[in-house]
Amino acid sequence: MTIRYDGKVAIVTGAGQGLGRCHAIELAKRGAKVVVNDLGSSKDGTGGSSDAAHAVVAEIEAAGGEAIANGANVAKEEEVKAMVAQAMDQWGRIDILVNNAGILRDKSFSKGSMEDFRLVVDVHLMGTVYCTKAVWDIMKEQEYGRIVVTTSSSGLYGNFGQTNYGAAKMGVVGLMNTLVQEGAKYNIRVNALAPTAGTRMTEGLMPEKAFELLTPETVTPAVLYLVSEDAPTHTILAAGAGSFAVARIVESDGLWLSPEEQTPEGIAAHWDAIAASDGERALKAGFEQTGKMIGKAAEGLGIK
Ligand code: NAD
Repeated sequence: MTIRYDGKVAIVTGAGQGLGRCHAIELAKRGAKVVVNDLGSSKDGTGGSSDAAHAVVAEIEAAGGEAIANGANVAKEEEVKAMVAQAMDQWGRIDILVNNAGILRDKSFSKGSMEDFRLVVDVHLMGTVYCTKAVWDIMKEQEYGRIVVTTSSSGLYGNFGQTNYGAAKMGVVGLMNTLVQEGAKYNIRVNALAPTAGTRMTEGLMPEKAFELLTPETVTPAVLYLVSEDAPTHTILAAGAGSFAVARIVESDGLWLSPEEQTPEGIAAHWDAIAASDGERALKAGFEQTGKMIGKAAEGLGIK
């Protein structure tokens, strides 16, 4: 079985270099028409030039593919809307959105400024929101859409010096969780990629040998799978150096405490059972948690 995207239109943000460039090139190789978006900024989000996006478009065209360059800043809603209008004028549909653009402003929480925090959240979280919002109704109308948000192990698990980035990267997972539910009946599937790759973003942070193993080419197959016709939905797929793994948010089964024990002391006394990992599972929606709690209370209180 070969996965292809003939007749499909894809937008890849931040595709001038690194992971986004690789995603865009591989999508085009497999038949997608691609909007190569890139602001052309430095790693910390300063400056800008559309050269990188144009170079990727030239590369795609040289290989026989179809692509257009776009220089929108994903953190600016009006620019994002114009990018989507450009794609619609050119090709009349949008099937795939890969939210990939990103920057870093690393500093410990006590040293970091609120201005940097806001900027990182604006690019990663609000950028993903603006791009997704701009294509959402188009995908609903088409009854077809595949969206990837790019999260990070920093968001899922934490990383020293990355409170701003981690908060934004977990934010996109929260966005995905609800989009999954709202998009399901329109055949819109939404997934998250948690990549680890040797790019400008991670240069100098790891030994050279590790950097060489972590090529973007080893991550892109995960994105290609997540935006394919038979893609899953609501999946966090981690990828790097040729390994692929699924991350999940799980909740312990928990324990109902009698009314007398519903105190901080009662929680302390039963902590091991409350936090026990046997029986833990990933819930499909928020209401499942409420249902579980009500069920346990009803059982504990003998209510039928
Ligand atoms: P990169 O710096 O090589 O590429 C990011 C691209 O995004 C750049 O070309 C940049 O110009 C563009 N960009 C930045 N701000 C933009 C904006 N406002 N609008 C449009 N384009 C913008 O980084 P990368 O390593 O390829 O990262 C790609 C994505 O993967 C990012 O979201 C990043 O947070 C995420 N990620 C990367 C790693 C890793 O190990 N490299 C790990 C976890 C997550």
